Amino acid sequence: MDKQQNRQLLVATRNRGKLAEFERLLGDLGLEFLTLDDVGVAEDVAETGPTFLENATLKASRYAMLSGLYTLADDSGLMVDALGGDPGVLSARYGGPGLTAAQRYRLLLSNLEQVPMEKRIAQFVCVIVLAGPAGNVLHSAQGVCEGRIALEAAGTGGFGYDPVFYLPERSMTMAQIPEGEKNWISHRGRAMRAIEPFIRELLA
Ligand code: IMP
Repeated sequence: MDKQQNRQLLVATRNRGKLAEFERLLGDLGLEFLTLDDVGVAEDVAETGPTFLENATLKASRYAMLSGLYTLADDSGLMVDALGGDPGVLSARYGGPGLTAAQRYRLLLSNLEQVPMEKRIAQFVCVIVLAGPAGNVLHSAQGVCEGRIALEAAGTGGFGYDPVFYLPERSMTMAQIPEGEKNWISHRGRAMRAIEPFIRELLA
């Protein structure tokens, strides 16, 4: 195995915040964490799969092949029981193109107007896939955060559906939770911690 390849990890994102989350978790390994822009990959892999796992796999494999590096890719979204798991893999596109995040969560609230609180069960789900430099899948992990869809939006933190994702044990929405704490309880934080031991074993 190439020594240099073994010290670099591509995190398949253009978002420095996501990279920083992985760096916090695995910083002690002395790895170099790189984004797609850092390695000059311009291609955007379309998330065309029917599941989070398939989308994360598509991205991890393709970006690993393009970069020749160990690659982590994730896919995430919101699943609402009363809507049969929607918006699911279409969370970022719920309601069609061109809507703001607020327009998307308002559409969700209106689609749940007749649904009482006890039936507004929802999960944020995140799947992370680790691929080897040849695009081969080495491991995957899932993180889930359980909650309810609130009756109305509250809070200004976070992004996406956070203002309408209510955490009963905290009596507040995800958008009202301090960032550090969100990283701990979120689907993404849980998925990262689930895949962490495999990255350590492989790249330590
Ligand atoms: P992706 O994994 O970046 O493709 O995220 C898909 C979509 O799911 C986002 O655009 C959001 O709408 C939603 N989503 C995923 N994670 C979160 C979260 O932590 N808070 C709020 N919305 C989220």
